[in-house]
Amino acid sequence: MIVSRFAPSPTGGLHLGHAWSAIQAHDRARDHQGRFLLRIEDTDVTRSRPEHVAGILTDLEWLGLGWDEMSAQSERLALYDAALDRLRDDGLAYPCFCTRAEIAREVAASLHAPHGPDGPLYPGTCRAIDPATRAERMASEAFAWRLDAGEAARRAGPLSWTDELAGTMPVAPRLLGDLVLKGKDRPASYHLAVVVDDAAQGITHVVRGRDIMPSTHAHRLLQAALGLPEPIYRHHALVLDAEGNRLAKRHGAPTLADWRYEGMDGIALVERLRIGELPFGFRLGQA
Ligand code: GLU
Repeated sequence: MIVSRFAPSPTGGLHLGHAWSAIQAHDRARDHQGRFLLRIEDTDVTRSRPEHVAGILTDLEWLGLGWDEMSAQSERLALYDAALDRLRDDGLAYPCFCTRAEIAREVAASLHAPHGPDGPLYPGTCRAIDPATRAERMASEAFAWRLDAGEAARRAGPLSWTDELAGTMPVAPRLLGDLVLKGKDRPASYHLAVVVDDAAQGITHVVRGRDIMPSTHAHRLLQAALGLPEPIYRHHALVLDAEGNRLAKRHGAPTLADWRYEGMDGIALVERLRIGELPFGFRLGQA
C-alpha cells in the first residue's frame, strides 16, 4: 500500500507552494487507496509556533485534503535520540563544539573549503579531536552532534535513489558534508528526524519539492548508515511567482489564510490545481 506524507514546518503560514505539495502527496496515496499522513516538523524549537500548527490544520481542511494520521516530531524525540545513539556507537557521529563564528573564520582561512549547495560546508574541525580532549570538553562546553559523512559514505558504498520524475539518481554522499544530527539548541536536526520518521511511519513515497533534492543525497546516506529502508521519491516542480521566484514571505507571497479571509473557495482552488491551472501570477518551475 502506498503511504505518503505532507510534512510542513510550523514556522509561518502556508502558501500556494505548500498547497501544491500537499495535493501531490495526498493524491499520490489516495489515487491508489493508500494512506496520507500529516507530520508537523517542529524540531526547530525556536521558530515553531502552535498558532502555525493550528493554521496548517485549518488550511488543509479548507483545501479538502484529509489525512489518516497526524504526528508531531516534538513528541518523537526519543526515536531520534535512539538513532543518534546508534550512529555514535557505530563511530559515525562526533561532538562538535564550534560556534558559527569559528566555522566562518575557519572557512575564510582555508583555501580549499568544500562547498555544498548552500555555501561552504563544515570543515570538519572537531572530527579529529583526540578522545581525551573530547571527553574533557564535553563535560564543560555546549556541543552539537555531527555525522562523519566521509566514513559513512565509505561504509555505504555507491548509493542511488529512485525518483518517479527524475529517474535513477546517483547519490553524492558528501554533498552536505558532516551535517548536524542534533544541534546545541535543537533536539534533532531536520535530516535525522525526517529519515527516522519516514522509516518508522512506513512512508513508501516521499513526495516533496525539488528544492529539497540536495537533502535527499544526505537522507540516503543516513538511511544506509542506520539500516533503514529506502522509500521512492518524487521531487515535484515548484510554484513560482511572476518574477520566477520561489514563494516566500519575504517576496510578499500571499498565504492560504489571506485567500481564505478574502473568501476564496479552497476546494475550487484544488480542483484547478489538479488540472494544472495555477492562479493568475503563478507558474510552475522546471520539472
Ligand atoms: N519540513 C520540510 C519543509 O517544510 C519538508 C520536509 C520534507 O518533506 O521532507 O520544508
